[in-house]
Amino acid sequence: MNVEIIELGDRKARFVLSGVMPAFANSIRRCMLAEVPTIAIDYVNIYDNTSVLFDEQLALRLGLVPLTTDLDSYVLPSECDCGGEGCPQCQVSLTLSAEGPKIVYSTELVSTDPLIVAAEVVPIVKLTKGQRISLEAVARPGIGRDHAKWQAGVACGYKNVPRIVVSDACDACGMCVDACPRGILVAADATIKVTDERSCSLCKLCEATCELEGAITVGTHPDSFIFTAESDGSMPIVELITRSADNIKNRAKALDEYLSIVD
Ligand SMILES: [Zn+2]
Repeated sequence: MNVEIIELGDRKARFVLSGVMPAFANSIRRCMLAEVPTIAIDYVNIYDNTSVLFDEQLALRLGLVPLTTDLDSYVLPSECDCGGEGCPQCQVSLTLSAEGPKIVYSTELVSTDPLIVAAEVVPIVKLTKGQRISLEAVARPGIGRDHAKWQAGVACGYKNVPRIVVSDACDACGMCVDACPRGILVAADATIKVTDERSCSLCKLCEATCELEGAITVGTHPDSFIFTAESDGSMPIVELITRSADNIKNRAKALDEYLSIVD
């Protein structure tokens, strides 16, 4: 297995993963979306709400606010010593009080833990003069498989690395150069050269416009994948990817142990 980084930021990463089965690439993608825990608001005590939103709508909007997540300090309620009843290891409290006229933003949530705060400036509700909201929100760790509010990975996907082959039959007529929407083909030295193979969108317009059959063929490398992954802000993208890989490793280990007991 080999990893080549194309782009790496705090929230977004693009990399080439090669020498792996398609099933492994897909399991990394699925883990980023559904298995890595994040902290999100799960329960709301509303003391006062004279806004235009129903209590349920207000709670739903709060639930979808991404919160910065510290997974070293919190555990899933299902794995907590308290048995899921709620304790400082598996939940954190945030309060919100506001009075109109104003737009209330997620950053106005006051957390009891400075590491667990709103990761994005999200408008919650618009209050007119005299309207008030006052509430306490309880945030807990959870996984995306149970609810989308616990999904740390957004826009996580991959495609096979494109492979464009120009055969000796090519007469460099240039039809494909004009047809390519990404502009990655150039006519040079009586043949066609590919400038940036990875930018190919696999549309195969070059194949379709070429008059000589088999002169240019577009395919893919079956064991290489270009990954794009983005985090919702709850954790850096590097942490999300490494935790996804750890998740697969731990589950494979657990399966191995289970099978050895069965033997
Ligand atoms: Zn607990």
